[in-house]
Amino acid sequence: MIAQLIVLSAVAYVGYQAAKIVVKSLGLGSDPDPGEEQKIPGANDMVQDPVCGLFISPADAVTIIHKGTYISFCSRECLNKFLQNQG
Ligand SMILES: [Zn+2]
Repeated sequence: MIAQLIVLSAVAYVGYQAAKIVVKSLGLGSDPDPGEEQKIPGANDMVQDPVCGLFISPADAVTIIHKGTYISFCSRECLNKFLQNQG
């Protein structure tokens, strides 16, 4: 009974070590990709107002769905200008 437990834990340990080696060799570790460092923080989250060209964060933007596309504006004024230009 005790011998079985020892064998089981040994198998589990070896399996754990093997899994760690596999993860390392596949490059699945947490090393950051150096190619990702050129991003400006938060820039990808900004949306551009097509009327005045301002970049706004989506949280502050006035967003509409126009012809199936999301369009974000810095303010309702720009939204109104945009809608007037459509007509
Ligand atoms: Zn605007």
